[in-house]
Amino acid sequence: MGKMRIGYGYDVHKFAEGRDLYLGGVKIPHTMGLLGHSDADAALHSLCDALLGAAAMGDIGKSFPDTDPKYKGISSIILLKCVADKLKAAGWRLGNADITIVAQSPKLAPYTEDMRKAIAEAVCADISQISVKATTTEHLGFEGRGEGIGASAVVLIEEDNKI
Ligand code: MG
Repeated sequence: MGKMRIGYGYDVHKFAEGRDLYLGGVKIPHTMGLLGHSDADAALHSLCDALLGAAAMGDIGKSFPDTDPKYKGISSIILLKCVADKLKAAGWRLGNADITIVAQSPKLAPYTEDMRKAIAEAVCADISQISVKATTTEHLGFEGRGEGIGASAVVLIEEDNKI
């Protein structure tokens, strides 16, 4: 068996008026969106950080600085594709990814399958390798008060023997 590594990522963005809500690469109807330099997709950002962490390649801020105007408003699916390409070039392929999104509202369960599909397509994986879960915090903490959304991700990456 080839080398395997695990990685972990975590991200939070706060809600803001007048923004579209993107999570897991899917646009979700809601009264507010998340504030950020990119589309502020906390789920994809946590996944990017987990992938970069597994390969010890730094973090999303190092790869895509929020001071760089070229990333302003960018779809995080594009950032995820770049991260997946970086890992592939370094000889890694995804084993599996497991993402948990923490939000009091909106209800995300109706969208998790679309998120799995969007993520699998972006990282050239099978949907069976991608898990997306959503939970509330029973109204506790910043997510529970509806101030923002948090997400965490763990991934396993494997040495790609085909390279
Ligand atoms: Mg972020």
